[in-house]
Amino acid sequence: MARERIRLLIKGVVQGVGFRPFVYQLAQRHDVAGFVLNTGEGVVVEAEGELKDLERFRHALKPEAPPRAVIESISPRIMHVQGDAGFVIQPSLAQPDEFQLVSPDIATCDDCAAEVFDPADRRWRYPFTNCTNCGPRFTIIEDMPYDRPQTTMKKFEMCADCKAEYDNPNNRRFHAQPNACPVCGPKLTFVAKSGEPRVKEEALAAAVEMLQAGKIVALKGLGGFQLACDASNDAAVKRLRERKHRYGKPLAVMTETIEDAAEICFINDAERDLLSSAERPIVLLRRRPKDAVAPSVAPGNNYIGIMLPYTPLHHLLLRDTGLPLVMTSGNLSEEPIAAENAEGLRRLDHVADGWLLHDRDIYSRYDDPVLRIVAGHRVMIRRARGYAPYPVHLPFKAKKAVLAVGGELKSTFCLLKEGYGFVSQHIGDMENVETFEHFERTLELYKRLFRISPEVVACDMHPEYFSSKFARDLKAPILVEVQHHHAHVVSCAVENGWRDQVIGVAFDGTGYGTDGTIWGGEFLLADWAGFDRVAHLKQVRLPGGEAAVEKPYRTALAYLISVYGDAYADLGLDFLSRLDPVETEILERQVATGLLSPFTSSAGRFFDAVSSLIGVRDTIEFEGQAAIELEMQSDEAEHGRYEYGYLTASGQPSVIDTDPVIKGIVNDLLNCLPVAVIGAKFHATVADIIVATCGRVRAETGVRTVALSGGVFQNATLYARVIKDLRKQEFRLLLHKELPVNDGGISLGQAVVAHTLAT
Ligand SMILES: [Zn+2]
Ligand SMILES: [Zn+2]
Ligand SMILES: [Zn+2]
Repeated sequence: MARERIRLLIKGVVQGVGFRPFVYQLAQRHDVAGFVLNTGEGVVVEAEGELKDLERFRHALKPEAPPRAVIESISPRIMHVQGDAGFVIQPSLAQPDEFQLVSPDIATCDDCAAEVFDPADRRWRYPFTNCTNCGPRFTIIEDMPYDRPQTTMKKFEMCADCKAEYDNPNNRRFHAQPNACPVCGPKLTFVAKSGEPRVKEEALAAAVEMLQAGKIVALKGLGGFQLACDASNDAAVKRLRERKHRYGKPLAVMTETIEDAAEICFINDAERDLLSSAERPIVLLRRRPKDAVAPSVAPGNNYIGIMLPYTPLHHLLLRDTGLPLVMTSGNLSEEPIAAENAEGLRRLDHVADGWLLHDRDIYSRYDDPVLRIVAGHRVMIRRARGYAPYPVHLPFKAKKAVLAVGGELKSTFCLLKEGYGFVSQHIGDMENVETFEHFERTLELYKRLFRISPEVVACDMHPEYFSSKFARDLKAPILVEVQHHHAHVVSCAVENGWRDQVIGVAFDGTGYGTDGTIWGGEFLLADWAGFDRVAHLKQVRLPGGEAAVEKPYRTALAYLISVYGDAYADLGLDFLSRLDPVETEILERQVATGLLSPFTSSAGRFFDAVSSLIGVRDTIEFEGQAAIELEMQSDEAEHGRYEYGYLTASGQPSVIDTDPVIKGIVNDLLNCLPVAVIGAKFHATVADIIVATCGRVRAETGVRTVALSGGVFQNATLYARVIKDLRKQEFRLLLHKELPVNDGGISLGQAVVAHTLAT
């Protein structure tokens, strides 16, 4: 029979995932000759053989691909027959201008975990075991194509055994770039404030001993340092909180197995899948009434963040200690995670009792990702290790390369190129100098890896955001300033491939409005190019401006004054007895004159105000705490509601009158109704407001697609109810998928708005 030859260019995540050996084996199986090689833009295959064999070979590529490969496209081309005898893997070919997708880091696979616990295996108890199906990727890559000399593994020369695995196409470690073993690979060291450093097994034993004794160990992980302690030891957890200056905010816990996790939390099927996925994220799970976790791990919270081990080092620590371990980012609050040994020793000097270090460098910092499942939907809270830098697929091809610098808190950036939106991993809060350096460094890396030189730059309209100042200083030919909530809504629409107008509901804490006031309870009729603000929550003064964010009682007072005027003081509320009279007088004056007290329509502040008013929380230790505790204390069985109304003037956005809500709450307080009931009625009312307002906009405009975005939707009670009720009313719903609902998701929206306006 006649022979034929084809050339296939395969794009996607196809390097560092065992793709070439897979192609090699497939070619053997189907009696196909030719070659496979890595290039700067993907994998190229030339295959020659009888037509029926070639067809079978080609059609098996996608369905049989290795588990961590993501094939985006296969472009075929007919070639002249060359008469190759066998099939070979050719050396990689660098193409300086081409780019390709990069695999995120992958949790230890079952095969590698089994080897680590097999006393007969040469990798028995080796903490850096990996293969083509698992191990570090993005955290060690300096440039593409993905070959060992372009990673931080370049300083470790493979021993003969590892090299034999690396060169054998039938081995699980064929071209596994981080391949290593106890003979040739990275090694553990343990140092403490006193005593000699220990290495290898002794280092691990010292760390285990310390953890069992209730001490705090800083361990160098995959994307940076983590701080670990015994999660069942309340004194240990409290000590960690004090030293890290992290008060109140829940800490994540790592358990050895899913069964151990199930003793702490309720886990449904979707949550189980997420917990044990190759990304191994922190998943927020509902706690059992009595769990073995110390009270100080997640005070005042019915949920706890759980993750499973994702490196061999974690597997060993969890098994050897036999304890659930608190596992939190190795930083002081709000700083980026520490990555280098010297940096970890210096920055965590006052936090850790001992350091478990190793000599494989971390090129790119990564925090642990955080997700939850709400009403069957995956809600991304922190997109980090395991997820970035896998891009969002755009429903268009970018004509110009765009950089969007994101917001201020939970910052990410986004680069648009061709059909992709590369949204960075979670970077952090930009007010911090170290975070800002992390931002710049990560941006340079993304630009280099994906070969992007932005022609258009997008930023938030806020005059004072560090990210916006950075963007303006770039002096790009085109700079587009995008309104914060418009960015939220467009980001959600683009993730869903949606181009047309939507009713965008953007409920969050703070965003700079086009009128210079602080927005945050917004209904926008929006598309990628622009928006109309069609409705918003009634504004109140924010006494002292942003300082009110940490002091919800200030916003509560502003609401009372807004509703009752001076008469608020005679209401006889408990809340008033908790206020300092001198401060109250100042706040009253600020509300009256507007001095340093901008107007806000923020939904986040509305939740804060109610939380404080009903005695749940007056001041906060971390962002969102007042609203979270309000949600936790609300009784799901309660079905009552409060009244609300609309104030409309022609040519103006509808204003949602929240006065009746506050009056209803005050009445309930005076009638001594419990917090659980008031909280539940409040949640139901906010959900009603959202659904009814969407209904009004639909009646006026005929638009029936709703996009939900903004940090307030991290509230599972509210989010679940709004989703359910909007569906019942037959709206088409767009929800965030890969990106966070909070400000970590806005960079994509900024980029797409800028691209739309600039092309
Ligand atoms: Zn593996
Ligand atoms: Zn070796
Ligand atoms: Zn926002």
